Amino acid sequence: MNAPTRDSSATVPKYQIDKDFYTSVREAKDRHKLIDRFVIPPYNGRGFIVKRGQTFRVIEAEGPQVADVMFWNADNKAEFLSMARTWLMEGIWVKVFTRLWSDVPWLRPMAVCIDETVDTTKKEGDYYHHFVMTHCCPEVMEARTGQAGLNACHLNLLQAIEPFGLKESDMHDNINVHQKTRFDPVLGKTRAARTAAEKGDYIELYANIDLLVAVSVCPNGDNTAHQAAVVRPIAIEIYDTGTTPPEFPKWTDWRLTWKGKWMPPAGAKSGG
Ligand SMILES: [Zn+2]
Repeated sequence: MNAPTRDSSATVPKYQIDKDFYTSVREAKDRHKLIDRFVIPPYNGRGFIVKRGQTFRVIEAEGPQVADVMFWNADNKAEFLSMARTWLMEGIWVKVFTRLWSDVPWLRPMAVCIDETVDTTKKEGDYYHHFVMTHCCPEVMEARTGQAGLNACHLNLLQAIEPFGLKESDMHDNINVHQKTRFDPVLGKTRAARTAAEKGDYIELYANIDLLVAVSVCPNGDNTAHQAAVVRPIAIEIYDTGTTPPEFPKWTDWRLTWKGKWMPPAGAKSGG
């Protein structure tokens, strides 16, 4: 018999998402005001600001194409999208109502997925937006192929953030958008499959705080190959929703009383 397990991304956490709020935002989409639209060409990246209460869409401009999306607090680059914290709190897929968390000490949902046009629930395990495998970089390309000088998301994301004063050392985790991936739980391996997204498909994220967003048009194309034969552009649209995001929880700042060792308050039990 298998040993009992527990869901490490608690399904009924104390701090729950306000689904009514994000549903109402999605349902009012037709009334949102388009404030910017631009196209990122293949093998390129672009950075842009999305204000609190705005959304941005990552759109398949001409056909199936993987995009890598990274973001920071626009006013504090030390706060960034954390793959590990989001994985812990939400799981590894990005779906409607997935909250995208920053790391401690903030640990807050910087953005929330409010829509995706590809039905990611059709077949178990065939999800499209996820956190696994980070983004492609020249070093990994060279390790795999022996070839230097290939395009990679790492370079495109750097191109995106340098105009905003960020450097390579400011780059962290990212969402892999439209990157259909199967997870083999026995071998612990991930397998890429051609994305099912088509021209016009998109994922839409709602900004809970002002965000600096960077998007790369991945040289994996439709996710069938590294350095794919066809790489297509990605379009970005930014919308004003006219809404104010819900309040964040305020965590207790244990650092104020930290004396180098945990001392249990009277009657306290250890967590886990
Ligand atoms: Zn890539």
